[in-house]
Amino acid sequence: MRSPCTFMNLTIRTKLTLWYTTLLTISILSFGLLFSYTLSKIIIENVDSRISSVADMMANSVFKPPLTLNLPEHFDLILERFFGIKTAGNYIQVLNSMGNIKVTSSTLEGTTLPLSEAAYRNALKGRQTYELVKTAGPFPIRIVTYPIMSKGRLELILQVGTSMKGTQDIFHALFYILMFGGPVMVILAGIIGWFLAGKALSPVDNITQMARKIGAESLNERLSISGPRDEIGRLAETFNDMISRLEASFRKTKRFTADASHELKTPLTIMKGEIEVALRTENTVEGLKDVLLSTLEEIDRMSHIVRNLLDLARADTGDIQLTFDKVHLDSLLRERFKQSAKRAAEAGLELRLIKTDTVTVNGDRVRLEQLIYNLIDNAIKYTPDGGKIELSLEAEKDWAIISVKDTGVGISKDDLPYLFDRFYRVDKARTRDAGGVGLGLSICKEIVTVHGGRIDIESEPDNGSNFIVYLPRLME
Ligand code: ADP
Repeated sequence: MRSPCTFMNLTIRTKLTLWYTTLLTISILSFGLLFSYTLSKIIIENVDSRISSVADMMANSVFKPPLTLNLPEHFDLILERFFGIKTAGNYIQVLNSMGNIKVTSSTLEGTTLPLSEAAYRNALKGRQTYELVKTAGPFPIRIVTYPIMSKGRLELILQVGTSMKGTQDIFHALFYILMFGGPVMVILAGIIGWFLAGKALSPVDNITQMARKIGAESLNERLSISGPRDEIGRLAETFNDMISRLEASFRKTKRFTADASHELKTPLTIMKGEIEVALRTENTVEGLKDVLLSTLEEIDRMSHIVRNLLDLARADTGDIQLTFDKVHLDSLLRERFKQSAKRAAEAGLELRLIKTDTVTVNGDRVRLEQLIYNLIDNAIKYTPDGGKIELSLEAEKDWAIISVKDTGVGISKDDLPYLFDRFYRVDKARTRDAGGVGLGLSICKEIVTVHGGRIDIESEPDNGSNFIVYLPRLME
């Protein structure tokens, strides 16, 4: 079923273009509004200062009370003679203190400027008023109502107005530019943005195509990184790293399956061979008993492998059943020492317990026993007759340190990194005879890891090995 078309489902290219054009529209609108507001403020301030300077000039010269001139007759003449060009284009009218018009300039062409209530009240108090009047003609008019006072009383009211036609024209032009130029700009930017986004994102498409072709069977392939080391280059690199890890993990799983099959097949082949021979040749009870004993040995071996594999599989899936409790490592080590002493002696080895600090850890007793058993067992297996094995337990800061040191065959530097890999054996032929399948150390590592510790190896061929386990101490 196709998911509904929401913004989240759009391609990055479309999203980028939409974001981009929306942002541009908002920018153009905000710029237009801010620009218009600032411009109108500047223009109005300019107009106000112009009309107020005309009013000032008139109030401080000709219209200074007491007024002796016969205004109606001489008004335009006065304006022309005294102020000349300075008053041209302005609408001027003089009113008495009652607000009745005494005279108007010829520029008003018989009409009058309105006197608002507020302006009149201000004039009575000797205050000037600036107003924008839209009803007095085809264009708005800015008017200053200017009181002329005499001995604290209102004598005359002077009104100077000017048409805002020019300003209105500017704003109309600006409006048309924004209304028609804005969308054109947004559309153009959208088209350009769409192409640029497509160009910038085309490597992502290439990566998608290439990644689609890489399947479980072709994990050796990699994405080709030819572009710059930008975000997309790094993404491709990260993909390649991930594919490398997947490849390694696939290879490991394949090898593990092959090794496991091999290890289980060997005892089966041996058993089959022995039983076939017995069926053909053996007819004494003693002979058959031998065959059964040998078969039992192989079955033991197989069940040991299967048990170990099960443990590892559980550790992998996190299903491993652990019972964490306070474990006295010193007594545990002593017990394991006693239990192994006989086996070591039989192998002609000297097993010594050289140090046992009193240390407790929070852990699963059975698993910790298994860990120490595996390490001692290996030391016995890989130390020739006459050798020495030393066990020790030390408490150091936050750690309990168990060491199993032998004077055995040692391990070469080349083998050390793989020692904890499943089914890894240094000398495959020899270790099978000794009973090992290469799972013991993998299990040790899992046990140490679930206990929050780590395991180190110090070893040199022919110079023995030292397996050192660090487990977090339980502080009391
Ligand atoms: P195995 O069951 O074969 O002993 P492990 O996982 O316990 O498997 O060990 C892996 C390999 O590490 C062994 O095959 C052996 O070659 C090497 N190894 C382990 N312990 C020692 C040791 N104490 N001295 C020398 N080699 C060892």
